[in-house]
This record gives sequence, C-alpha cells and structure tokens, in this order.
Amino acid sequence: MTKKTALITGITGQDGAYLARFLLKKNYKVIGLERRSARSFNWRLEKLNINDKVIIEDTDIKEINNLIRIFDKYKVDEVYNLAAQSFVYSSFQNPIETSLVNSIGTLNLLEIIRNKKNKIKFYQASTSEMFGESKSIKQDEKTLFHPRSPYATSKTFAHYSVQNYREAYNLHAVSGILFNHESPLRGEEFITRKITLGLSKIVLKKQKNLKIGNLYAKRDWGYADDYVEAMWKMLQSKKPDDYVIATGKNHSIKQFINESIKALKLKTKWVGKGLNEKLINTENNKAIIVIDKKFFRPTEVNILKGNYQKAKRELKWKPKTNFSKLVKMMIASDLEYVKNLDKN
Ligand code: NAP
Repeated sequence: MTKKTALITGITGQDGAYLARFLLKKNYKVIGLERRSARSFNWRLEKLNINDKVIIEDTDIKEINNLIRIFDKYKVDEVYNLAAQSFVYSSFQNPIETSLVNSIGTLNLLEIIRNKKNKIKFYQASTSEMFGESKSIKQDEKTLFHPRSPYATSKTFAHYSVQNYREAYNLHAVSGILFNHESPLRGEEFITRKITLGLSKIVLKKQKNLKIGNLYAKRDWGYADDYVEAMWKMLQSKKPDDYVIATGKNHSIKQFINESIKALKLKTKWVGKGLNEKLINTENNKAIIVIDKKFFRPTEVNILKGNYQKAKRELKWKPKTNFSKLVKMMIASDLEYVKNLDKN
C-alpha cells in the first residue's frame, strides 16, 4: 500500500507534535508547516524524538500563495489544521491577528482544497470555547455557540466555514470540537502548565510565588496524546461530520492546583476570599499562590463540560487518561525540567 501523506499546520505546537508522532507510527509521510523564525530547533518535536522524521516547510497560514506552492509540491491526502493564535487571553490584546490566523488562515486552506481535483480530507481544530456562556450542563454537537473572546469568535467563523464547504462543495471536511487538553508539551502561558511549572519552581526554590487569575473557572481537561487519535479517527470515517472530544468531567482551576499540591506532597491551606484568596505553605507560612486581577479575562467562560457520546458511538473513541494521572504526569515532567534548567 502506498504511504499516505498528511500535512499538519501548527506542527510545532502541543497537538501538532503528538499528532505527528501518531501519524508516523501509522506509517504516514508527515509534512509540517512552521512559521519562519530564527529558532533552529523545535523543542516539542525534539522531545518526542521525531524532529528528523518529519518534513518541515516554512509558511505562515495567512500567506495563501505559499500554501498553494506547498500543495503543488506534495500530493497531500489529509490536512490537519492545527495552526492558531490559540491563547484566549492574548486574543483580547490581538483580536485582528487572532482572526487573520484562525479564520482567514482556515479559509485559505479550504479554498485551496476546493480548487484541487484530487479529494483532500480536511480536519479543523475547533474548540469548546465556542460554547462560551453555555446554558447547557454538558455541551455536545447540537449545543448553541455563545463565544466570549476574539479567539472563540475567530474559531466559530472557521467552524462554520468548514461546515459550509462540506455542504456547498462536498468537501470531506470535519471539525473536532475539542475541550481543553493538556500535557507536558503544553505552552508555558496556558494555565495548567503555568501551575505545574510555577509550583515545581517554588518547590525547587527557583520562584517565590505564582500569580493566578480566576480560580473558579471550570474546565473539562483531557490528555492531548489521547485527543490526537480522535482527530485521525474523524478523518477515517466514511461520512464527514463534527465531533465533541472531551472527558465528560470538569474541575476548577483551584482543584487543578490542589491536585498539583497533592502530587508535590506539599502542606498548604487556602485563606482569604475574592482577590485576597491565597494558598499558604504551612511549613513556612508563606503565600505561594496569590490572585492578580491582571489575569482575569474581560469576558470569562465559567463552566465547560463536554458530552463525547457521539465520538464514542461512531468513532469508538474514548479518553484514556484521567485528571489525576494528567496532573501527576505534568508535575513529574516539570520537576525534571526545572532541575535540568541549571545544567543547560
Ligand atoms: P499551540 O501549542 O498554541 O500550537 C499552535 C501552533 O500554531 C504552533 O505551532 C504555532 O506556531 C502555530 N501558528 C500560530 N500562528 C501561525 C501562523 N500564522 N501560521 C502558521 N502557524 C501558526 O496549540 P495546541 O494546544 O497545539 O492546539 C492546536 C489547535 O487546537 C489550535 O488550533 C487550538 O486553537 C486548538 N485547540 C486547542 C485546545 C487545547 O486545549 N490545547 C482545545 C481546543 C482547540 P509557533 O510555534 O511558531 O508559535
């Protein structure tokens, strides 16, 4: 059988790296798009030992001419569009760039695929943030969207564009509505990694305290490596469709901190309320977590919890890694990382 070729936009990101490894194991030829930068190596691909196993092409997904050149160069079977300005907090500061990448970047790819004669399958990285201020206790494929950030509005545009290209042009295009998923490869600016890295630094005496925003936002957190399998399964399905990928359980940021504290075996207690709430290390009475208003979003998404039953039923997919295991894995990895910081 001839090797399939997959094109991954955002291969240098968390999901891109795990997906590349997954597809290489399935014997795909993997081409990854990377924005031009002075960086000489991709730490995530290095960490997974696959840097020399993928073909990297430089391009920004906003540049349609460069994208066309890449589609002309390779006979691509499957496209996974993971590239995004993916940090919700930054999207409030950079709404236009966020939309150009997340919305127009997606449209660029859809337009190229529409104009190609061979049938290229397309996966879009949609997000639970599109549900935003949802009235439903659990969100599924039929739940109304109520996006609450420029990130979420830009992704909603892309999501509906995929649906429209599927209906209008019969494209084999799908969207995975993925709830938050984390891993040791998560970017340091994201709340879960900020917590596991910050607390690891505090334990190893490299940092005094950690400043956090809203402790009470609840998210449905899964493991990124479990979720990339769902992306692939969606594209193998005969009928293109959209699927929610989640664990069906949610936890608050405060619970994520408590689970991290448990993994680190620290003795602590929460004191105070509102902006004065703090986590105290009871061994030395020092505050290790404090609240900083700066990190609150202008419009927050308070609770998200996904219903992944359709994916379970039709794709035979279910999450393998629970919350406690995920936090332990991230803490273990960050303790190692911080210990090695001095050596490098
Ligand atoms: P990530 O780690 O932030 O990776 C984003 C990737 O996009 C990086 O490789 C980044 O490149 C690339 N990128 C950004 N702007 C670009 C541009 N203009 N042109 C080309 N590449 C560009 O995100 P992730 O966690 O892997 O998430 C993957 C996708 O799933 C994203 O679309 C995200 O919005 C979506 N999603 C994620 C979650 C989650 O919880 N992780 C949940 C739902 C949906 P650089 O390395 O140069 O920055």
